[in-house]
Amino acid sequence: MATGAAHDVKTTCPYCGVGCGVIATVTPDGSVSVSGDPEHPANFGRLCSKGSALAETIDLDGRLLRPHIDGRPADWDEALDLVAARFASTIAEHGPDSVAFYVSGQLLTEDYYVANKLMKGFIGSANIDTNSRLCMASSVAGHRRAFGTDTVPGNYEDLELADLIVLVGSNLAWCHPVLYQRIAAEKERRPSLKIVVIDPRRTMTADIADMHLAISPDGDVALFGGLLSWIANTGALNYSYISNFTTGAAQALRFGAQDLRAVSRKCGIAPSQLIEFYSLFTRTERTVTVYSQGVNQSETGTDKVNAIINCHLATGRIGKPGASPFSVTGQPNAMGGREVGGMANMLAAHMDIENETHRARVQRFWQAPTVATRPGRKAVEMFEAIGQGHIKAVWIAGTNPVDSMPEADRVRAALAACPFVVVSDVLADTDTTRVAHVLLPAAAWGEKDGTVTNSERRISRQRPFLPLPGSARPDWDIMADVARRMGFVEGFSYTTAAEVFAEHAALSAFENDGERDFDIGAHAGIDAVGYEALAPFQWPQRRGAVTGTERFFAAGGFFTPEGKGRFVAPREARAGAALLAKLPAQEPTDQGFILNTGRVRDHWHTMTRTGKSPRLSQHMAEPFVEIHPDDAAQSGIAEASLVRLSKGPAQAIARALITNRQRRGSVFVPMHWNDQFASNARIDALVDAVTDPVSGQPALKQARASLASFNAAAYGFAVVARKPADIPADYWAIARCTGGWRLELAFGQAKDDWHAFALRLFGGRENVDILAYNDVGAGRYRIAAFDGAALLGALFIAPQPVGVARGWLVEQLATSHDLQRQRLAVLATRPSAGQSDKGAIVCSCFGVGSNEIAAAIASGCRTVKAVGDATQAGTNCGSCRAEIKGIIDAKPLQAAE
Ligand code: SF4
Repeated sequence: MATGAAHDVKTTCPYCGVGCGVIATVTPDGSVSVSGDPEHPANFGRLCSKGSALAETIDLDGRLLRPHIDGRPADWDEALDLVAARFASTIAEHGPDSVAFYVSGQLLTEDYYVANKLMKGFIGSANIDTNSRLCMASSVAGHRRAFGTDTVPGNYEDLELADLIVLVGSNLAWCHPVLYQRIAAEKERRPSLKIVVIDPRRTMTADIADMHLAISPDGDVALFGGLLSWIANTGALNYSYISNFTTGAAQALRFGAQDLRAVSRKCGIAPSQLIEFYSLFTRTERTVTVYSQGVNQSETGTDKVNAIINCHLATGRIGKPGASPFSVTGQPNAMGGREVGGMANMLAAHMDIENETHRARVQRFWQAPTVATRPGRKAVEMFEAIGQGHIKAVWIAGTNPVDSMPEADRVRAALAACPFVVVSDVLADTDTTRVAHVLLPAAAWGEKDGTVTNSERRISRQRPFLPLPGSARPDWDIMADVARRMGFVEGFSYTTAAEVFAEHAALSAFENDGERDFDIGAHAGIDAVGYEALAPFQWPQRRGAVTGTERFFAAGGFFTPEGKGRFVAPREARAGAALLAKLPAQEPTDQGFILNTGRVRDHWHTMTRTGKSPRLSQHMAEPFVEIHPDDAAQSGIAEASLVRLSKGPAQAIARALITNRQRRGSVFVPMHWNDQFASNARIDALVDAVTDPVSGQPALKQARASLASFNAAAYGFAVVARKPADIPADYWAIARCTGGWRLELAFGQAKDDWHAFALRLFGGRENVDILAYNDVGAGRYRIAAFDGAALLGALFIAPQPVGVARGWLVEQLATSHDLQRQRLAVLATRPSAGQSDKGAIVCSCFGVGSNEIAAAIASGCRTVKAVGDATQAGTNCGSCRAEIKGIIDAKPLQAAE
């Protein structure tokens, strides 16, 4: 790296499956800024709020910088010898299936490749699975059933070429924001583009939709079965495509042949709305159907995928410009993991573990001593097997299953009882590192070297721009080292990520004369220089090819044995009434509310990265439960009060967010919060380990939970300059802010001595200047502590949820308070003249709050652009534009005037 001047490194965002190109600019003093890469075909320079804040997440605070064994520091040799010896002895004593790897869609393809090769080809088990199982396994299974392989037929460009985009279970505005931005920009440019959002919640994405179908949870199979029937009944079948390129249409059509009212009843959408949607779909040739976690994370996820694909096969709208089914993945490299076969039921390079020819081919290529002969345990089964003692040694790489797996408390207990747990991670303290015997420090984003594949099959480089800190190492390097220590020297002699990639590319082309879709043989001989310069490309890119083929299946060419695409009738067509009887009720039942879990705009997974960013932490500063007003009223839950969610012994506490965006009978809780950021918010502890029988993907959006008011005697809000060592409150949630931290608190019983509590929260320092106010009768207490002009902490206690100017108070941590009136203003939470409370942060990029946006609307701004011109909100990454529109729409005109 250059030392004398700032230099740019082109790399890829490590968050979602959009796979945006970013440019990291490193200055000579080591500071880093991040911007969108205008030349990257995924984003053309755009970034969302998470990508824009990447530079705030790369500090070394909390990093794991050296190996640990049983909590004590160790060197690499000792740690890796132990890992190799324990895995080898466990295999020798109990067989290869007694060990497992649980890896991550955060890993780079090179990491994934080495882990998969070690487990399947050298250990001889297929017990390697990934957190991508939680994300898109149903899409993989649906693709394989319909196409004979796991291929995404379309491109992002299709979103701009389509005349109709159907978004199913896909809150793009928050989960794939740059794709949302591309669609929103196209809609603005070409208002004739129609957008339909199918989602039980009226998400922010629905704000650009022409039609929102508030489908009942898991009503998708019925909805798309009905659509297939409508297509047939209205003469819209593409007979030529069906007869030339597909099989199974008749059976699928038999299922679809239902009365519209029956479909309406099953999916909870009025017949008139169904007709409107079906007619629009049928008459619009250029239609793209985008689907993601709302489809995949279901007990019927694979059937949903196939129900969607059936409609595209029936109309021949697949792999054509502006016309295709389109699965978008949650994680940055879920696709790369699929390409190397890093899942328990796949082999490598899109070959099948059940196929003897494929197994022999892979074994021959790897020159491996063995190869797994049957699928291994998928994620949920894997942790069950750990709990049952069948798996006795597990290596978890780059993921946090103690928070993210369903029945997360059982997962934690299983790992706590497992004889040998290895965790390689970036951070020292996660809920999963706490149960590890051996901790291995892994390289983080900005330090890693490798490739990722985004949702449109585009392979991009992640390049390092920071030195490896401490003794951290890349995951592929750690895995290869352990393999060599287990005696597999020949197969794991890599010295660079480029060598791993070259081998992966060569395997994709090995004995592949077009039989397999995944082929990047053009890069099989790549050297270090070529790897460094590798520009983003889409697969396939066969030997001798200059550019990849950009779309699949417009003229058949499927990878099934018969070479035809397959219509797949859903399980309920085969199982009959039993499954229909399981359709969810629309009202809360004795079993409680349907619990839908998912992402928020500015956080990622279990917050190990985004939780470091003050900007990202201000948008949603605590866990919340979204609940319909009628359900809240019936349950005695008031706005901004706390709610206890429970399922059996598992519990979580979250803030009530009452909104008619939520469907009755269902609640939504974000998946992100964990024991590092809240007292009790690991929501996946409440989710049953129910899976789709085909894909093994857990139904993370259709759990059941009971709701009750959390009866707090006192509520609190605090800002502190230093993170407290402990927080003795019955409820707490902590979020990073500029200059310190902010905390939400609640107590089952009011404390006798709030003063002592406050000083403990502020770090126990003495000789500080204190201002305090205590109204014992009203149960109100306020205190602010200063060290010279610096605010050390402020605490506000009230018998109801505390109503203070939070945004303004947070800013006081980074403000000088020389004058007594400034200090008194903190205690009074009363901004002085010339200051104001921004309100809850809406625009993370420019720190624009809801009060500022409301003021702009009140002054006459009627459009998102006008609000942006007045406040800058929404003018950088654009992730908040949907929320700004929501605020504009919610403001009655006369109120604005
Ligand atoms: S949309 Fe946002 S989170 Fe996703 S890859 Fe792009 S910048 Fe990263």
